[in-house]
Amino acid sequence: MKRIGAVLLLCALLLAGCDAQEPCAQQTVFCMDTVMDLQIWGKERLQAMDAIVKMLEQLEQTWSVTDENSLLTALNRGTGTPDAQQQAFLDKASSLCQRTSGAFDPKLRSVVALWGFYDDTHRVPTAQQIDAAKMEAKWDLGAVVKGYAGDLAVQLLAQYDVDRAILNLGGNVQTYGEKPENEPWKVGIQNPDGGNALGVLSAHGTMAMVTSGDYQRYFMQGGVRYHHILDPRTGCPAASGLRSVTVLCRDGMTADALSTALFVMGLEKAADFWRQSEDFEAVFVLENGKIYATEGVELSGCEFEVICREN
Ligand code: AMP
Ligand code: MG
Repeated sequence: MKRIGAVLLLCALLLAGCDAQEPCAQQTVFCMDTVMDLQIWGKERLQAMDAIVKMLEQLEQTWSVTDENSLLTALNRGTGTPDAQQQAFLDKASSLCQRTSGAFDPKLRSVVALWGFYDDTHRVPTAQQIDAAKMEAKWDLGAVVKGYAGDLAVQLLAQYDVDRAILNLGGNVQTYGEKPENEPWKVGIQNPDGGNALGVLSAHGTMAMVTSGDYQRYFMQGGVRYHHILDPRTGCPAASGLRSVTVLCRDGMTADALSTALFVMGLEKAADFWRQSEDFEAVFVLENGKIYATEGVELSGCEFEVICREN
């Protein structure tokens, strides 16, 4: 099993750093099993930072899939009562499941556990074991909770006197506000094989940029890479010909659900799904190394094919 070197990830992904000219609050926290790097500019940056860190800790406590005391564990045991905001999060997860025809499935907990991805006890299960686990349909919101955290962070930032922020929530990048002189935010797309970023995305204003990749969490057995993004139909790692999908969307939770779902769908189905949607753009890195981007994406530093609205 190999996990991304979180520090390397930050170096690769965050091309916008605190500079000397303007005071910036910067904090690195370990939360939700990942390193998060938070940068906020503006008068009330420290207050906003405190509020965001508290919110992240609370989200982790509530939605942890491994913590015996989390609300999620209680819900999976058939106990626990979500409050209105928590229920809205669950409902939104269910509606994203419907929107993606089940490619994003927030109830894969038992199947993910079977592959040993929660506690690094990796193994390839039998077909019978997978079928039994699929029937259990227990919550795992790991594919959306960081995107949702980005949305809550944006709501908090709006309550303070801050100019702008860039939050790297473990590969989920959330920007807030405009950079000076209308400069775009620049965020690198990780090379699945490591090393320098493959290309650089530009975005303006408040935006979530979320990547799902087969290199983020996986184990090797018999020369085969078993990664953590499962096809809910088979209960096995999605074999869609993709290495990664990056989604840009104003809504962080939607970006997060869609990055997972489009990875499961594969390039062709994902491109059709995008043509039927209005709210996101996406970049696809294929197993053969080719890169495709939907026509609204601003991508530089690499060669890629554009996916157009008209097929
Ligand atoms: P992400 O990195 O956002 O693509 O989320 C992947 C994580 O979500 C995995 O580590 C699993 O815990 C869970 N997961 C795996 N496959 C799916 C899926 N098809 N739909 C929803 N959650 C999934
Ligand atoms: Mg996701």
